[in-house]
Amino acid sequence: MIRFHNTLGGRIEPFIPLVPGHVGLYTCGPTVYNYPHIGNYRAYVFEDLLKRFLLFSGFKVTHVMNITDVDDKTILGAERLGQTLQEYTQVYTQAFFEGSATLRIMPADVYPRATEHIPEMAALIRGLLDKGYAYYREGSVYFSIAKFQGYGKLSRIRLDDLEPGRRSDADEYEKENVHDFALWKAPKEGEPFWETDLGPGRPGWHIECSAMSSKYLGETFDIHCGGVDNIFPHHENEIAQSEAFTGKPFVRTWMHCHHLVVDGEKMSKSKGNQYTLMDLVAAGVDPLDLRFLLLATHYRKMLNYTSDALAQAGASRRRLLDFLYELEHRSFPASGTGTGIASVLGRAREGFQAGLSDDLNISESLSALFEMVREVNTLVASGELDAKGAGDAAAFVRGLDEVLAILPPKAEEALPAAMASKIEARQKARRDRDFALADRLRDELLREGIVLEDTKDGVRWKRVRPAGPAS
Ligand code: AMP
Ligand code: ZN
Repeated sequence: MIRFHNTLGGRIEPFIPLVPGHVGLYTCGPTVYNYPHIGNYRAYVFEDLLKRFLLFSGFKVTHVMNITDVDDKTILGAERLGQTLQEYTQVYTQAFFEGSATLRIMPADVYPRATEHIPEMAALIRGLLDKGYAYYREGSVYFSIAKFQGYGKLSRIRLDDLEPGRRSDADEYEKENVHDFALWKAPKEGEPFWETDLGPGRPGWHIECSAMSSKYLGETFDIHCGGVDNIFPHHENEIAQSEAFTGKPFVRTWMHCHHLVVDGEKMSKSKGNQYTLMDLVAAGVDPLDLRFLLLATHYRKMLNYTSDALAQAGASRRRLLDFLYELEHRSFPASGTGTGIASVLGRAREGFQAGLSDDLNISESLSALFEMVREVNTLVASGELDAKGAGDAAAFVRGLDEVLAILPPKAEEALPAAMASKIEARQKARRDRDFALADRLRDELLREGIVLEDTKDGVRWKRVRPAGPAS
């Protein structure tokens, strides 16, 4: 039995998907106006742990993660640099995909971009107008929160001081500032806009996730995730829009991770403590140490990022890597273990599963794993572990890594560092619009047996037989 904490209601409940064996999962994706920071990756790694654990437990998972490529922040950023919205957001979208792969985050099944779903949003807004939940003011459309009975149920805000009809155009605002929010914003000088039957304009942030989640997962789906800052107003507004439109429950389980802070303080650019993944990798941090640090604290607890905490995470992870290396490279006697190893591994599996089944209690799962390491090491020290036992223990660790994803990819799957940096250099050349250099690097890689494929979600590589010199 798996149990998760549901922000809606604030209780830990048994998790039972709507369709037996199949989970619909929506996770709020990046607003691509900047390079993702390690706080964002805390959210994505928590969601990845959740998804991997569901898969490990035998569920099929359909995972949708939006890319917010139009909102107040992306428009402002593009305007500042004199770029089109697409030119501006492309760089950060790419950085997000590359960072996610670096942290071994499994790709979603669909990454819908807001700018590619304007008709779906317009249709939803039209429906809300027709049903009387929305109204026009000066070319913009607003959601009337007083009309929706359940407004505030997720964030448990008090609506006592509600001033009916008070409106805001901003995508983000504080709880103290509850008001009617913009679904559709009339065009402003210099801003991008779309022609729809609502009139010209662009969508508000919240309507994006309501429209795209229902398109890919249906009107009611199982799990919706984000960081705690998403609870209000973003997710509260998503519920209002979707439930007002369909008359059905929108999401069954809401899961939110607490924030990551740095040295006990909220990250901010002005304090200079807002690290991106690239900053840390450039400083020599192993990205999988960071992944381990991010997932090893329970998702509903605040995570304090410090260099000591990272070093400790790295040390624990290395203990596991060394253990696995020994199992896979040392020679063990042909016989000896008997049944001891099977019961050690059986207990560890049970403990690991029980921990994560209890609202993703990762500490309990990791204790079970490291207790197994200790017990197997004792068997090794006393010469009792035989070759089959060592193989079983190694396979067990690799099996759990389907959930943790903290082991380096197997040697044959990894790309030599020189080739990886050549791919990186080509990406940079493309971003700098130096296409001659980009093409030259692509050709060099091809001669070394690596073919590149540019996809909408980033560059992929495949091994092929090295091409000979051009004849
Ligand atoms: P954004 O790109 O700002 O829309 O955020 C993407 C995701 O990162 C959302 O789920 C946020 O809730 C989450 N997030 C933002 N800051 C933090 C933080 N400091 N710690 C954990 N999650 C965060
Ligand atoms: Zn969202």
